[in-house]
Amino acid sequence: MREVAVSLFRAGHCVHPQRATIRGGSVRPVIFPALSALIMHPVEGPIVFDTGYDPAFFAATQPFPERFYRWLTPATLPEGADVASQLRRAGIAAGDVRHLILSHFHADHIAGTHAFPNAAIHCAREGLRAACSSGRIKALLGGILPALLPPDIATRARFFEEAARVPLLDALQPFTDAADILGDGSLLAVELPGHCPGHWGLVVTDARHGEHFLVADAAWSSDAIRRNVPPPRLTSGLLGHARRVEQTLAALHALWRRNPTIRLTPAHCPECAAEIEM
Ligand SMILES: [Zn+2]
Repeated sequence: MREVAVSLFRAGHCVHPQRATIRGGSVRPVIFPALSALIMHPVEGPIVFDTGYDPAFFAATQPFPERFYRWLTPATLPEGADVASQLRRAGIAAGDVRHLILSHFHADHIAGTHAFPNAAIHCAREGLRAACSSGRIKALLGGILPALLPPDIATRARFFEEAARVPLLDALQPFTDAADILGDGSLLAVELPGHCPGHWGLVVTDARHGEHFLVADAAWSSDAIRRNVPPPRLTSGLLGHARRVEQTLAALHALWRRNPTIRLTPAHCPECAAEIEM
Protein backbone atom coordinates (compact mmCIF):
# COMPACT_ATOMS: atom_id res chain seq x y z
CA MET A 1 0.00 0.00 0.00
CA ARG A 2 1.46 3.36 -1.00
CA GLU A 3 1.98 5.75 1.93
CA VAL A 4 0.51 9.25 2.15
CA ALA A 5 0.38 11.97 4.82
CA VAL A 6 -3.00 12.82 6.36
CA SER A 7 -4.01 16.03 8.15
CA LEU A 8 -7.48 16.75 9.49
CA PHE A 9 -9.17 20.13 9.22
CA ARG A 10 -12.25 21.35 11.05
CA ALA A 11 -14.54 23.29 8.69
CA GLY A 12 -17.32 24.56 10.96
CA HIS A 13 -19.73 22.61 13.13
CA CYS A 14 -23.39 21.93 13.71
CA VAL A 15 -25.41 21.41 16.88
CA HIS A 16 -27.72 18.46 17.65
CA PRO A 17 -29.31 17.14 20.82
CA GLN A 18 -27.00 14.29 21.93
CA ARG A 19 -30.04 11.98 21.99
CA ALA A 20 -30.46 12.33 18.20
CA THR A 21 -27.00 10.84 17.63
CA ILE A 22 -26.62 8.10 20.22
CA ARG A 23 -29.14 5.85 21.96
CA GLY A 24 -29.56 6.77 25.61
CA GLY A 25 -27.96 10.21 25.08
CA SER A 26 -29.17 13.32 26.87
CA VAL A 27 -31.33 16.10 25.43
CA ARG A 28 -28.53 18.64 25.85
CA PRO A 29 -27.22 20.17 22.63
CA VAL A 30 -23.78 18.94 21.57
CA ILE A 31 -21.35 20.56 19.10
CA PHE A 32 -20.44 18.25 16.23
CA PRO A 33 -17.45 19.46 14.19
CA ALA A 34 -17.39 18.95 10.40
CA LEU A 35 -14.03 17.36 9.55
CA SER A 36 -12.26 17.33 6.23
CA ALA A 37 -8.96 15.58 5.47
CA LEU A 38 -6.00 16.69 3.40
CA ILE A 39 -4.11 13.72 1.99
CA MET A 40 -0.66 14.49 0.55
CA HIS A 41 0.12 11.96 -2.16
CA PRO A 42 3.75 11.57 -3.33
CA VAL A 43 2.78 11.83 -7.03
CA GLU A 44 -0.72 13.34 -7.21
CA GLY A 45 -0.10 16.09 -4.63
CA PRO A 46 -2.86 17.42 -2.36
CA ILE A 47 -6.09 15.40 -2.24
CA VAL A 48 -9.15 16.45 -0.23
CA PHE A 49 -11.59 14.05 1.47
CA ASP A 50 -14.95 15.75 2.19
CA THR A 51 -15.17 19.51 2.58
CA GLY A 52 -17.19 20.25 5.72
CA TYR A 53 -19.12 23.53 5.77
CA ASP A 54 -18.45 26.40 3.40
CA PRO A 55 -20.02 29.83 2.78
CA ALA A 56 -21.83 28.12 -0.14
CA PHE A 57 -23.87 26.16 2.44
CA PHE A 58 -25.21 29.37 3.93
CA ALA A 59 -26.03 30.78 0.47
CA ALA A 60 -27.83 27.55 -0.47
CA THR A 61 -29.91 27.59 2.74
CA GLN A 62 -30.91 31.25 2.44
CA PRO A 63 -34.15 30.69 0.44
CA PHE A 64 -37.15 28.61 1.49
CA PRO A 65 -37.66 25.70 1.71
CA GLU A 66 -33.88 25.14 2.08
CA ARG A 67 -33.85 27.52 5.09
CA PHE A 68 -35.49 24.69 7.11
CA TYR A 69 -32.21 22.72 6.84
CA ARG A 70 -30.41 25.52 8.69
CA TRP A 71 -33.13 25.73 11.31
CA LEU A 72 -33.14 21.97 11.95
CA THR A 73 -29.35 21.68 11.95
CA PRO A 74 -27.92 25.00 13.15
CA ALA A 75 -24.43 25.32 11.64
CA THR A 76 -21.55 27.70 12.32
CA LEU A 77 -18.54 28.48 10.15
CA PRO A 78 -16.13 31.14 11.42
CA GLU A 79 -14.69 33.52 8.81
CA GLY A 80 -11.87 31.81 6.91
CA ALA A 81 -12.60 28.36 8.41
CA ASP A 82 -13.73 26.77 5.13
CA VAL A 83 -11.29 24.11 3.96
CA ALA A 84 -10.10 26.02 0.85
CA SER A 85 -9.13 29.03 3.01
CA GLN A 86 -7.37 26.79 5.52
CA LEU A 87 -5.43 25.07 2.73
CA ARG A 88 -4.44 28.46 1.30
CA ARG A 89 -2.98 29.45 4.68
CA ALA A 90 -1.07 26.14 4.65
CA GLY A 91 0.42 27.10 1.26
CA ILE A 92 -1.86 24.92 -0.92
CA ALA A 93 -3.89 26.55 -3.69
CA ALA A 94 -7.33 24.98 -4.16
CA GLY A 95 -6.67 25.02 -7.93
CA ASP A 96 -3.78 22.59 -7.37
CA VAL A 97 -6.07 19.95 -5.84
CA ARG A 98 -6.59 17.35 -8.57
CA HIS A 99 -8.67 14.85 -6.61
CA LEU A 100 -11.64 15.45 -4.34
CA ILE A 101 -13.17 12.42 -2.61
CA LEU A 102 -16.76 12.68 -1.36
CA SER A 103 -17.90 10.08 1.18
CA HIS A 104 -21.54 10.94 0.40
CA PHE A 105 -23.65 13.85 -0.80
CA HIS A 106 -24.97 15.38 2.42
CA ALA A 107 -24.52 19.15 2.34
CA ASP A 108 -22.05 19.26 5.25
CA HIS A 109 -19.66 17.02 3.27
CA ILE A 110 -19.84 18.63 -0.18
CA ALA A 111 -20.48 22.34 0.48
CA GLY A 112 -16.93 23.35 -0.47
CA THR A 113 -16.81 21.33 -3.71
CA HIS A 114 -17.10 24.51 -5.82
CA ALA A 115 -13.69 25.65 -4.48
CA PHE A 116 -11.87 22.79 -6.27
CA PRO A 117 -12.71 23.32 -9.96
CA ASN A 118 -9.72 21.33 -11.26
CA ALA A 119 -10.35 18.21 -9.19
CA ALA A 120 -11.74 14.91 -10.40
CA ILE A 121 -14.64 14.10 -8.07
CA HIS A 122 -14.41 10.57 -6.68
CA CYS A 123 -17.75 9.40 -5.30
CA ALA A 124 -20.33 6.62 -5.34
CA ARG A 125 -22.43 6.40 -8.48
CA GLU A 126 -25.34 5.38 -6.27
CA GLY A 127 -24.91 8.50 -4.11
CA LEU A 128 -24.68 10.89 -7.06
CA ARG A 129 -27.68 9.29 -8.73
CA ALA A 130 -29.77 9.70 -5.57
CA ALA A 131 -28.57 13.31 -5.15
CA CYS A 132 -29.47 14.24 -8.74
CA SER A 133 -32.70 12.34 -9.15
CA SER A 134 -34.83 13.84 -6.40
CA GLY A 135 -36.84 17.07 -6.60
CA ARG A 136 -35.98 20.02 -4.37
CA ILE A 137 -38.18 19.02 -1.42
CA LYS A 138 -37.31 15.32 -1.49
CA ALA A 139 -33.62 16.18 -1.78
CA LEU A 140 -33.91 18.52 1.21
CA LEU A 141 -35.55 15.80 3.31
CA GLY A 142 -32.60 13.57 2.41
CA GLY A 143 -30.00 16.16 3.54
CA ILE A 144 -29.11 17.13 -0.06
CA LEU A 145 -28.84 20.69 -1.38
CA PRO A 146 -28.69 20.37 -5.19
CA ALA A 147 -27.30 23.95 -5.48
CA LEU A 148 -24.04 22.63 -3.99
CA LEU A 149 -23.45 20.15 -6.83
CA PRO A 150 -21.10 21.65 -9.45
CA PRO A 151 -22.81 21.93 -12.86
CA ASP A 152 -20.03 19.87 -14.51
CA ILE A 153 -20.12 17.02 -11.96
CA ALA A 154 -21.24 14.45 -14.55
CA THR A 155 -18.00 14.90 -16.51
CA ARG A 156 -15.73 15.15 -13.45
CA ALA A 157 -17.19 12.22 -11.49
CA ARG A 158 -15.12 9.01 -11.09
CA PHE A 159 -17.11 6.27 -9.44
CA PHE A 160 -15.96 3.99 -6.62
CA GLU A 161 -18.12 1.24 -8.10
CA GLU A 162 -15.99 1.27 -11.28
CA ALA A 163 -12.56 1.25 -9.61
CA ALA A 164 -10.56 -2.00 -9.38
CA ARG A 165 -11.40 -4.12 -6.32
CA VAL A 166 -8.46 -5.00 -4.09
CA PRO A 167 -8.18 -6.99 -0.86
CA LEU A 168 -7.63 -5.06 2.38
CA LEU A 169 -4.93 -5.96 4.90
CA ASP A 170 -5.95 -8.56 7.51
CA ALA A 171 -5.62 -5.79 10.13
CA LEU A 172 -8.79 -4.24 8.69
CA GLN A 173 -11.06 -7.27 9.13
CA PRO A 174 -14.05 -7.66 9.13
CA PHE A 175 -13.67 -5.29 6.14
CA THR A 176 -12.17 -7.41 3.40
CA ASP A 177 -11.96 -5.46 0.16
CA ALA A 178 -12.04 -1.97 -1.26
CA ALA A 179 -12.13 0.13 -4.42
CA ASP A 180 -8.60 1.24 -5.39
CA ILE A 181 -9.36 4.85 -6.40
CA LEU A 182 -6.05 5.73 -8.08
CA GLY A 183 -4.98 2.18 -8.93
CA ASP A 184 -1.80 2.45 -6.79
CA GLY A 185 -3.20 1.21 -3.46
CA SER A 186 -2.95 4.65 -1.82
CA LEU A 187 -6.67 5.53 -1.57
CA LEU A 188 -8.99 2.63 -0.78
CA ALA A 189 -12.71 3.38 -0.71
CA VAL A 190 -14.76 1.05 1.50
CA GLU A 191 -18.54 0.94 1.34
CA LEU A 192 -20.15 1.67 4.72
CA PRO A 193 -23.84 1.12 4.01
CA GLY A 194 -26.80 2.54 5.90
CA HIS A 195 -26.30 6.25 6.56
CA CYS A 196 -27.69 7.22 3.12
CA PRO A 197 -27.53 5.88 -0.45
CA GLY A 198 -23.88 5.57 -1.59
CA HIS A 199 -22.06 6.13 1.71
CA TRP A 200 -18.36 5.16 1.65
CA GLY A 201 -15.29 5.59 3.85
CA LEU A 202 -11.60 5.77 2.92
CA VAL A 203 -8.61 3.75 4.11
CA VAL A 204 -5.13 5.20 3.66
CA THR A 205 -1.73 4.31 5.08
CA ASP A 206 -0.38 7.39 6.82
CA ALA A 207 3.42 7.47 6.79
CA ARG A 208 3.44 8.62 10.45
CA HIS A 209 0.51 6.76 12.00
CA GLY A 210 -0.16 3.64 9.90
CA GLU A 211 -3.66 2.65 8.77
CA HIS A 212 -6.19 5.47 8.97
CA PHE A 213 -9.85 4.76 8.25
CA LEU A 214 -11.93 7.88 7.58
CA VAL A 215 -15.39 6.49 8.33
CA ALA A 216 -17.45 9.60 7.44
CA ASP A 217 -20.93 9.38 8.98
CA ALA A 218 -20.91 5.64 9.74
CA ALA A 219 -20.66 6.81 13.38
CA TRP A 220 -21.16 10.14 15.10
CA SER A 221 -18.20 9.68 17.41
CA SER A 222 -15.29 7.41 18.30
CA ASP A 223 -17.13 6.76 21.57
CA ALA A 224 -20.09 5.30 19.64
CA ILE A 225 -17.69 2.91 17.84
CA ARG A 226 -15.95 1.83 21.06
CA ARG A 227 -19.28 1.18 22.84
CA ASN A 228 -21.13 0.00 19.71
CA VAL A 229 -24.07 2.30 20.43
CA PRO A 230 -25.95 3.40 17.30
CA PRO A 231 -28.22 6.43 16.91
CA PRO A 232 -31.92 5.89 17.67
CA ARG A 233 -33.69 4.13 14.81
CA LEU A 234 -35.95 7.12 14.40
CA THR A 235 -33.03 9.35 13.35
CA SER A 236 -30.91 6.84 11.41
CA GLY A 237 -34.01 5.65 9.54
CA LEU A 238 -34.90 9.20 8.56
CA LEU A 239 -31.96 9.60 6.16
CA GLY A 240 -30.96 6.01 5.54
CA HIS A 241 -31.49 2.43 6.63
CA ALA A 242 -31.42 1.90 10.40
CA ARG A 243 -30.55 -1.82 10.38
CA ARG A 244 -27.67 -1.31 7.95
CA VAL A 245 -26.41 1.60 10.08
CA GLU A 246 -26.29 -0.82 13.02
CA GLN A 247 -24.52 -3.55 11.00
CA THR A 248 -21.90 -1.10 9.74
CA LEU A 249 -21.32 0.29 13.25
CA ALA A 250 -20.99 -3.28 14.59
CA ALA A 251 -18.35 -4.01 11.92
CA LEU A 252 -16.39 -0.87 12.92
CA HIS A 253 -16.69 -1.90 16.58
CA ALA A 254 -15.35 -5.37 15.71
CA LEU A 255 -12.44 -3.77 13.82
CA TRP A 256 -11.66 -1.55 16.83
CA ARG A 257 -11.78 -4.54 19.22
CA ARG A 258 -9.35 -6.54 17.06
CA ASN A 259 -7.10 -3.55 16.42
CA PRO A 260 -7.57 -0.85 19.08
CA THR A 261 -4.62 1.23 17.82
CA ILE A 262 -6.08 1.78 14.34
CA ARG A 263 -7.13 5.37 13.68
CA LEU A 264 -10.86 5.56 12.98
CA THR A 265 -12.13 9.05 12.21
CA PRO A 266 -15.86 9.75 12.13
CA ALA A 267 -16.48 13.05 10.29
CA HIS A 268 -18.22 14.70 13.25
CA CYS A 269 -16.25 13.22 16.16
CA PRO A 270 -15.53 15.80 18.91
CA GLU A 271 -12.52 13.73 20.16
CA CYS A 272 -10.91 13.66 16.70
CA ALA A 273 -11.46 17.42 16.34
CA ALA A 274 -9.86 18.02 19.75
CA GLU A 275 -6.75 16.13 18.59
CA ILE A 276 -6.31 18.59 15.70
CA GLU A 277 -6.29 21.48 18.13
CA MET A 278 -3.72 19.89 20.48
ZN1 LIG B 1 -24.23 12.53 6.39
